Amino acid sequence: MGMALVRTIYPTQSLASATKGKSLLDGMLIIDPHAHPDMNPEYWKDHSASFRFMKEVGMAASGYFAIGDFPQTSRTPFGSYYDIAVRMIDYWMNTVVQKGFVKLVLKMSDIPAPGTETPGAILGLEGGDALEGRVDRVDEFYKLGVRIITIVRVHNNELGDMMSARPGLDPGPYSGGLTPKGRAVIDRMQELGMVVDVAHCSTATLKDVVAYCKKPVLDSRTNLCATGNNCGRARTWKEMEWIASSGGVVCSRPVAWDKQPSKTIRDWANELLEMKKKIGSEYIGIGTDGGGGFRRLSGYNDVRDLGKLAEALTDVGFTREELAAFMGKNVYRVLGKYLS
Ligand SMILES: [Zn+2]
Repeated sequence: MGMALVRTIYPTQSLASATKGKSLLDGMLIIDPHAHPDMNPEYWKDHSASFRFMKEVGMAASGYFAIGDFPQTSRTPFGSYYDIAVRMIDYWMNTVVQKGFVKLVLKMSDIPAPGTETPGAILGLEGGDALEGRVDRVDEFYKLGVRIITIVRVHNNELGDMMSARPGLDPGPYSGGLTPKGRAVIDRMQELGMVVDVAHCSTATLKDVVAYCKKPVLDSRTNLCATGNNCGRARTWKEMEWIASSGGVVCSRPVAWDKQPSKTIRDWANELLEMKKKIGSEYIGIGTDGGGGFRRLSGYNDVRDLGKLAEALTDVGFTREELAAFMGKNVYRVLGKYLS
C-alpha cells in the first residue's frame, strides 16, 4: 500500500519540479564549457551531455572536449594523445557537426541565442599532452576548430603539472609550475584566440598561469575543497580567488564537495552558494564534464537536470540575475576575451 502511494506521488512531484526548473531557465543563456558529448558510441557510453538533451534544456553551447578518460586510462592501444584528439575531433566534424545537429562555434557571433534549436559546439582539447610541447600544434588545433585548451590533464606534461595523480597512473616528472614551453603555448593561444583552461592544474602551475596569462582564465571543471585538505581535483578558496582575480570563472560539476556527504542537487546548490558568497556571482559557472563517465550526484542524470539545479539555486537565494550569470553569462564574458 505504502509503496503504491509512493509510486503514484513521486512521478507527479518530479514532473512538476522539472517543469518549474525548466521555466526558470527560459530565455537564459546556458553555456557548459566542459563536456564530452556525442562521442563515438563504439567505445563511449556516457550520453549525459548529448545534443538531444541540450536542445531540451535550451542550452546555447557546450564544450566538446577531445580526449575523455577512457582512451587515456585504458590499455586499449588508441595511439598517441595527438592521434586520439585528432580522431575525436574528426568524428564530431563528420557526425554531429556535418549533420547539423550542432553548430560549430569559431567566433563569438556563432554562439546561438538562448533556447536555440541548434546548440553550439565549442571544440576543446582536454590536456595539452596532444601538443607534445610544440607551439605549431596550437595553430594546427586552432585550424581544426579548437577554441579551448586545458593546459594539463591526468599527467604532468611539457607545459606544466597536474593537480592530483590517479591511483595506478604514473603522473610523470614534475616541473614545479608552468614551463617555458607552457608559456610559449599560452602566448600563442592568446594571439590566436583560444581560451586558457586551468582545470586540473596543480596549485603552483595554476598560480603561474594566472600570473602569466594576460586574460581571464577558465577553470572549466572542478568543485569546492572547503577544508583545504586532500582536495584531489577540487579547488581551495585561495585557488578560486586567484582565478576570480584574473576575471575568470570557476566551473562546478555535479559531484559532491568535501563538506557535503549527502550528494544531492540541493548540496550542489549549497556548494555554489558558498562559492557565490566567497568569490562572487560573476566568477562561477557550470562545467558538467558530461560524458566524463564519473559518478554524479543523485538526481542528476544529464544536462536536462540543470533545471533542477536552477530551482535549487533559487531556493537557496540566487536571484535571477545571479542564476543567469552562473548558467552562462560569466563563461560568455571569458569566451569574449579570447574569441574574435
Ligand atoms: Zn572532462
